[in-house]
Amino acid sequence: MKAEGLRRIVYPGTFDPVTNGHLDVVGRALQLFDEVVLAIAGDSTKKPLFSLEERKQLAEESLAEFNGRVRVTVFRGLLVDYVRSQGANAILRGLRAVSDFEFEFQMALMNRKLADSIETIFLMPRDTYTYLSSSIIKEIARLGGDTSAFVPPGVQTALHEKFHGGKP
Ligand code: ADP
Repeated sequence: MKAEGLRRIVYPGTFDPVTNGHLDVVGRALQLFDEVVLAIAGDSTKKPLFSLEERKQLAEESLAEFNGRVRVTVFRGLLVDYVRSQGANAILRGLRAVSDFEFEFQMALMNRKLADSIETIFLMPRDTYTYLSSSIIKEIARLGGDTSAFVPPGVQTALHEKFHGGKP
């Protein structure tokens, strides 16, 4: 298929770090789209645990299982401008619970206001990941808990090194 004919969706977020919930959403999106462009927000006001470079590397490693159908990038500036620059017209977001809804609804409608031709698509992860967030994973890792059911092995190692130094 020609590159410009690809159905492509941009998945923006902080990914600090990437979790099995993110991977689940990406896998579902690949049933609908040819390519997912994971877009790590470089301008975020959040104070991340992992640097942009570390987050990109962990995401790349973790998404290798999708055989080149996921590209990991860093973006700055307005998301809708970035989506256009990637030749896409869709934004992917994960929806876990009602608590995600209000913020996501506001973002999606504001992005539509900024760019009417770009749609936001929400996908729900499998139920075991609905209570999973990068923040809760960092908390478990910090307190010495086992994160192996929730993050890819490379992320588990990186979390352990960050909080406790050395391998798990
Ligand atoms: P952000 O700071 O933009 O919320 P995140 O990296 O926390 O960035 O999340 C990126 C996207 O992935 C968001 O749409 C979020 O709702 C979704 N997401 C995060 N964790 C999960 C999960 N466990 N299951 C499904 N979607 C998730």
